[in-house]
Amino acid sequence: MRKQIIAGNWKMHTNIAEATILVEGIKEALAKTEVDREVVVCPPFTGLSTVADLIDETSIGLGAQNMYFEPSGAYTGEVSPLMLTDVGCHYVILGHSERRQYFGETDALINQKIKAAFTYDLVPILCVGESLAQREANETQAFIDSQLTAGLADLTAEQVSQMVIAYEPIWAIGTGKTATAEQAGEVCTAIRAKVASLFDAATAEAIRIQYGGSVKGSNAQEILSQPDIDGALVGGAALKAEDFMAIITA
Ligand code: PGA
Repeated sequence: MRKQIIAGNWKMHTNIAEATILVEGIKEALAKTEVDREVVVCPPFTGLSTVADLIDETSIGLGAQNMYFEPSGAYTGEVSPLMLTDVGCHYVILGHSERRQYFGETDALINQKIKAAFTYDLVPILCVGESLAQREANETQAFIDSQLTAGLADLTAEQVSQMVIAYEPIWAIGTGKTATAEQAGEVCTAIRAKVASLFDAATAEAIRIQYGGSVKGSNAQEILSQPDIDGALVGGAALKAEDFMAIITA
């Protein structure tokens, strides 16, 4: 059985004081609640160390939102996988559509980062998803298949079975427009089928697939009850403990 995973992608939000308030709020609420979902927070780089200290000895996991693929070197402005594990990260979000769109990240670069994540003991959360134009042109599945084929190239089945894929339709991110639970579920089922064809059935059965894009308390339950959806990657609604908890407990 796959354990559902709810991850908060804080994006470029929160200073240290805000991160502290947010994570303390989540901790406090989780201490009072029985949840069988895994909870992960992904603060900006500057908040990782503080948040790592605050969640020490809790069940909350820590993730980063990006990294470079080299362990160290003359790469001004970059953060390495070793730096992320050193600060206490277990997860790293890779290939988010905002990285692809605004920072020119290609499937090939993202694939290098995924391989590096495994080399340095990080679990990648690989984001894939189509634009509105692609959805309207009926190209959703072909596009996501190409992102998966390139993103998962040269990985072993063993590695892929441990990772997380986040299906995030670009048109649903930060827009308030959510894919319907059926739309989201359908694509996640197709992603699992693609993983089966690239690797094998056992790998496809093991991999966790999240949905992301305007997930909130009011739609989480329906989305999370789709058979091939194993969690959510949450942006806006992860910035308030109360909103995030509503998804975790949905
Ligand atoms: P959103 O962002 O929940 O604000 O739509 C999701 C994401 O980009 O990971």
